[in-house]
Amino acid sequence: MGRKFFVGGNWKCNGTSEEVKKLVSTLNAGEVPSQDVVEVAVSPPFVFLPVVKDLLRPDFHIAAQNCWVKKGGAFTGEVSAEMLINLGIPWVILGHSERRLILNESNEFVGDKVAYALSKGLKVIACVGETLEQRESGSTMEVVAAQTKAIAERISNWADVVLAYEPVWAIGTGKVATPAQAQEVHFELRKWLQANTSPEVAATTRIIYGGSVSGANCKELATQPDVDGFLVGGASLKPEFIDIIKSAE
Ligand code: PGA
Repeated sequence: MGRKFFVGGNWKCNGTSEEVKKLVSTLNAGEVPSQDVVEVAVSPPFVFLPVVKDLLRPDFHIAAQNCWVKKGGAFTGEVSAEMLINLGIPWVILGHSERRLILNESNEFVGDKVAYALSKGLKVIACVGETLEQRESGSTMEVVAAQTKAIAERISNWADVVLAYEPVWAIGTGKVATPAQAQEVHFELRKWLQANTSPEVAATTRIIYGGSVSGANCKELATQPDVDGFLVGGASLKPEFIDIIKSAE
């Protein structure tokens, strides 16, 4: 299909400036496949974006962890898409389950954010995923389809979107989805894109998996035909992130 493997490292709300610099130098020393094989983006907290941008190897990209839903202005505490563009940050993560669930970001709000970020020239890692309760009640596909629909209704430019399937029960829990569980949802999401966007979007959009991805489990997950990479939390703060990038090969 020619979908280039994508590995994102979501540092979340972690690190001191010393720790961040140390992590960047570890990443800079890592041997990874070429940019033809894998696209890498690390996502530091906002305050560390400038230092990471200064120090990070040029073959790794940077993603912010969020941005505001419209043009900046009187929105205390927010960071706008325009500011990220101004700083030269190419990517942003939107719709992470921690923001959907803890900060009550609705499907519509996330869809609006994705549309606005794309309109300003950012590329978006858009996250979807079900809770344990939703999985156990059999509504996984319904939930991720509704989350994806709220995005699809608002955008046409899927070329700048990576869809991240992150089951909430697998995030930070050490309880990774099995390769079969991940493949099943990725396959269904691709089918959904086929039916609701276009065959081309379905064939070319990268669908990456997130939730307790580690150096130990990434290889098997990466063999699944519809798993086009990973969004990594905890393990992205460790040298092991390099091993996860290598699973692209
Ligand atoms: P985790 O987080 O790898 O620590 O489970 C993934 C994520 O939240 O993106």
